[in-house]
Amino acid sequence: MFVDQAKIKIKAGDGGDGAVSFHREKYVAAGGPDGGDGGRGGDVIFQVDDNFSTLIDFRYKRKYAAERGQDGSGRNCTGKSAPPLIIKVPRGTVIKDAETGRIMADMSTDEPKVLARGGSGGKGNVHFATSTRQIPKFAKPGFPGEEFEVTLELKLLADVGLVGFPNVGKSTLISVVSAAKPKIANYHFTTLTPVLGVVKTDEEKSFVMADIPGLIEGAGDGIGLGHEFLRHVERCRLIVHVVDVSGVEGRDPKEDFRIINEELEKFNSELSERPQIVAANKTDMATEEQIADFRAFIEEKGIPFHCISAATTKGTHELVMKISEVLDTLPPIKEFEAEPIPQAQLDETAGTGKAFEITLEDGIYYVDAPWIQPIMRTINPDDYSSLQYFQRVLINSGIIAKLEEMDINEGDTVDIEGFEFDFVY
Ligand code: GDP
Ligand code: MG
Repeated sequence: MFVDQAKIKIKAGDGGDGAVSFHREKYVAAGGPDGGDGGRGGDVIFQVDDNFSTLIDFRYKRKYAAERGQDGSGRNCTGKSAPPLIIKVPRGTVIKDAETGRIMADMSTDEPKVLARGGSGGKGNVHFATSTRQIPKFAKPGFPGEEFEVTLELKLLADVGLVGFPNVGKSTLISVVSAAKPKIANYHFTTLTPVLGVVKTDEEKSFVMADIPGLIEGAGDGIGLGHEFLRHVERCRLIVHVVDVSGVEGRDPKEDFRIINEELEKFNSELSERPQIVAANKTDMATEEQIADFRAFIEEKGIPFHCISAATTKGTHELVMKISEVLDTLPPIKEFEAEPIPQAQLDETAGTGKAFEITLEDGIYYVDAPWIQPIMRTINPDDYSSLQYFQRVLINSGIIAKLEEMDINEGDTVDIEGFEFDFVY
């Protein structure tokens, strides 16, 4: 079965807890704290694997969780970090946050992508000993790992998409110009899955062609099979519109041409601007007048027109060369950019009215504010707007004002729930 959509839950591992422990040795009086930190939870990482061509596995297994980091232990032992959980997907899978629709990653390249980050380990009690607090009987819990419900959508990576009514000869065409061997038969909807074929134009040049199963009227509204497959046209750089010019099935090629274009436009208006080449097929069965009439109709619109007979391969080589020539002038296959977390989610008033306590010990300002933990794990330190948001939370809650009141200096260390920062204005 060809499955090209799925919805799954991913959860990165939580960080391990920090340990509370005190140094003990035979014949030695109770020593200082030696509770180590918890290990980091495992990330959830996506990776392209070309052995997969559908998302069918995700129909059966829907929950993916990376392991938790190990807890810290005595003798200053840091818990082991958990290994990442690697999820393999077919090339071209687009991953979105199911809740917001935000694009999180486009798995088009071999570069692995971290989709959910594991939580950091909590600090062990060894960190909390100070001159005035020699027996810290507490440690910090690990931070939770990120968790998302995501949709996976396979959008095939092809340079050229073949579109057209059922039975016009798309499968025949791809089978004669590439090594792909789709089912060909004289009835509608023989092709139930998109088929990719590599078309070689010379020794080292080639392009990828996709046979998109038959579109029918109403496909753009979800009627019939076509709609299911239209997403695979979205990335194609060029559309080759195959039309049965002979009208052997009693249809009008001009009408067919118009209907298919309407369906493409309805599905995604960008598709109606995608460059097209018209391949008038079954010319072996058509009359000279039929061909001339259709040619005039297409060329009047300024669209390149080619006569072929896929079944006898007549004209297919010329079509392939034309496709290659046009592709040379077009931008590369579309990749979707990961979208940032929408600003609307970053509440301007976050942190307002929240309680906290700050203690100054040995020059370190310890901020105790458990509510800030879930906020901290959404902060991306490499992202300016994310850091600004965090700054806002600290201002709103009054933490910054309180630190200033305590005469903090630039460069002093602030420890917020186990994370250390240098204070900057
Ligand atoms: P698809 O549904 O568009 O993939 O169409 P197919 O490639 O499965 O072809 C449908 C039917 O048309 C099959 O019986 C083919 O043999 C036939 N066919 C395809 N190309 C030509 C052609 O150039 N000339 C003729 N006479 N028949 C063709
Ligand atoms: Mg077919």
